[in-house]
Amino acid sequence: MKWDVMQKKLTILSDAAKYDVSCSSSGSRRENKAGGIGNGAYGGICHTWSADGRCVSLLKILMTNYCIYDCAYCVNRRSHETERAMLSPEEIAELTVEFYRRNYIEGLFLSSGVYRSPDETTELLIRTAKTLREEKNFNGYIHMKGIPGTDPRLIRELGKYVDRMSVNIELPSSAGLKLLAPQKTKENILLPMREIRSGIAERKENRKASRKAPAFVPAGQTTQLIIGATPDSDRTILRLSEALYKQVELKRVYYSAYVPAMTGPNLPALTQPPLLREHRLYQADWLLRYYQFSADEILTDAEPDFDLHLDPKACWALRHPEIFPVEINKASYHMLLRVPGIGVTSARRICAARRSAWLSYDTLRRLGIVLKRAKYFITCRGRFYGESDRPDYIRSRLLDAEQAGRYEPMDLFAGVNS
Ligand code: SF4
Repeated sequence: MKWDVMQKKLTILSDAAKYDVSCSSSGSRRENKAGGIGNGAYGGICHTWSADGRCVSLLKILMTNYCIYDCAYCVNRRSHETERAMLSPEEIAELTVEFYRRNYIEGLFLSSGVYRSPDETTELLIRTAKTLREEKNFNGYIHMKGIPGTDPRLIRELGKYVDRMSVNIELPSSAGLKLLAPQKTKENILLPMREIRSGIAERKENRKASRKAPAFVPAGQTTQLIIGATPDSDRTILRLSEALYKQVELKRVYYSAYVPAMTGPNLPALTQPPLLREHRLYQADWLLRYYQFSADEILTDAEPDFDLHLDPKACWALRHPEIFPVEINKASYHMLLRVPGIGVTSARRICAARRSAWLSYDTLRRLGIVLKRAKYFITCRGRFYGESDRPDYIRSRLLDAEQAGRYEPMDLFAGVNS
């Protein structure tokens, strides 16, 4: 392998991969000095988190940035003049193993432009994964893209070698696809997703009969949605995520604020990525997955977009003054989870403690429950500790506190294992 040629390709293909957020780039530019140890500047190395919470370094690259498609928002689109490169399956396998041996990475995250056709691209991805697993005996983590429009049989073949697959939807509606990615359709994106779901379900069944049944995408599938490239509302996006979690059993939906890297008549005139909107979507997604909210509870016909000033759970609670305040000694576990400021850990603590005592406000404090937000939505032994239960008053207090940074935003990770 000619290292300077390889380094050049790696620079092009890791840069071309940076808009995929299914794993986040480290962004490090620190190079090794004489006598020093380590080099943080290798293109394409990023970090992701394993199911047990470990931070895992991955080689994140495209196999190629040649693409026959012309998605308006994409730096790799056919009509964009840019430097192009391609790595062969053997080169990717060798790079991965070399980087692994040098302790730079623990796995590979490989995406690709659509090279000649979806099937041909997937065949090359299969060859890469097979070479790594069967010739190089590589047992590290492999995450690969499912290319929309690929023959389901090839998806099945690829799934035998990789840990995780992701088929990126990118645009949250058929109208959006037609406008910005006319070669993609809802159906040719959903087809590989459904195939992966079926393969995973079959693997689970086969594993019941024999522990030696072959693996198939054991870490599940994910997707990415671009936020703000089309006029789709937050409600449209959240409903799509909800449907995907239910219908194709996705592990995660990743939301990526649209980065205005390209120009075009159908692209929005944004100067900055809508990062706060992306953040609200992650908060709402958490409510879907762990707090048993539905998309239609979080956003409604009347309010189809997030309030960027307040988190989605607080907004929902303020829309429902008929429910609050709830008595902390009587509310069900699931109702406690709906109280702004109470997360999984706090709700569990309250349920455990009230088995043996009728809880007071002071007891809650002693249990470590943060009440700055919750006090407007609860009673303890029938007594209300907020100054007023009027929604407009509570909203102004929550906004004041949030703006003054007096408390942390919603505690997303409290007590939940992802
Ligand atoms: S198919 Fe993927 S790589 Fe090709 S132009 Fe569209 S988004 Fe870019």
